[in-house]
Amino acid sequence: MDTKNLGFNSKLIHAGGYKDKQGSVNVPIFQSSTFQFESAEEGARCFNGESDGYIYTRLGNPTINVLEKIIAELEKGYGAIGTGSGMGAVNTVYMGLLKKGDHIISSDAVYGPSRVVLEEKYSEFGIESSFVNTSNSENIKKAIKPSTKVLYLETPANPTIEISDLKKCSEIAKENNLTMVVDNTFSSPYLQRPIEFGADVVIHSLTKFINGHADIVGGIVVAKDEQMYKKLRSTMINLGCNMDPHQAFLVIRGLKTLGLRIDRAQENAMKIAEYLEWHPKIEWIKYPGLKSHPQHELAKKQMNGFGSMISFGLKGGFEAGKTLMNNVKMAMLAVSLGGVESLIEHPASMTHSKVSQADKIKAGITDGLVRYSVGIEDVDDLISDLRQALDKIK
Ligand SMILES: *Cc1c(COP(=O)(O)O)cnc(C)c1O
Repeated sequence: MDTKNLGFNSKLIHAGGYKDKQGSVNVPIFQSSTFQFESAEEGARCFNGESDGYIYTRLGNPTINVLEKIIAELEKGYGAIGTGSGMGAVNTVYMGLLKKGDHIISSDAVYGPSRVVLEEKYSEFGIESSFVNTSNSENIKKAIKPSTKVLYLETPANPTIEISDLKKCSEIAKENNLTMVVDNTFSSPYLQRPIEFGADVVIHSLTKFINGHADIVGGIVVAKDEQMYKKLRSTMINLGCNMDPHQAFLVIRGLKTLGLRIDRAQENAMKIAEYLEWHPKIEWIKYPGLKSHPQHELAKKQMNGFGSMISFGLKGGFEAGKTLMNNVKMAMLAVSLGGVESLIEHPASMTHSKVSQADKIKAGITDGLVRYSVGIEDVDDLISDLRQALDKIK
């Protein structure tokens, strides 16, 4: 069946086009490291690319391949490359697109390790990086040098929920011959498809919304065209950060309910944001669905919904943050996000603890900032939970 013109939720169930010879409704887990050839000639054809037969799981695997096809179709890309983790996808992109002497411009509030690895490791290979607030695209223009090759964006950003204008950024990237990479983890293709706005590469931590059940770690790289796809696939193969077939199976399973899960979670998030916005112990709140969000209009333009990630600041700063963490009962105190369960975390002491204080301040990560990943529980229960925990703050 051609799934190209189907609606998004139908694609979630039918894209990938796998038809099992035994009639299995689900994609089997091809738990095999290697694949036998029918003849020496067939083996040769697989190696020289004349046949697309499988060779070895690090190079490709039928279960992983179905997931790659589904995500490529959802993101409107040419092809996708499964990786063992989101960081595997990030490093595939850095390794594949940058060489000694090159410069990369990145959003300053990206996922902590995506920044730290550039500063601590790629710098040792002679790769230079600049971090700017990409929600104002003028900052990108100012940071461009003759050696700039990549513009790396995360929108909404982690954990400040600032939004970058994908169309404007891609225009700047095109004018300056930069490859534009977007980490689309916070939105998933259900809410935002960066390739439609001009991105060249999209990456995901599948660990979050796409798998959605907090039971695996995984990542994927989506390339807009064939040339980029081939380059990044060979980088992943050589890096060895491939996905495992069992991991791919679970992601395919989780992915089927992406639309349902996000619809419910973002409906909950809107109600929680409205509750928190007027709470006396809250200093500020950032949720793209609130009119008070500085890029509310931009979010409406480039996203199909506002998502379920909320950031807020407590008037009582660090201590109040700790009190809240220690008193919520339903929301679990844990990093990660995008699962069916509500999770709460404190970036200053957790995910962003390795980022320097000065850089944290520059990126808007204050000591009282709390990040809330809203799940699909009953919203009244989530609000009562927050209410009783906020009451404990003196
Ligand atoms: C979690 C995350 C990553 C890293 O993914 P892992 O699966 O943990 O390796 C990258 N980017 C964003 C935005 C994330 O939230």
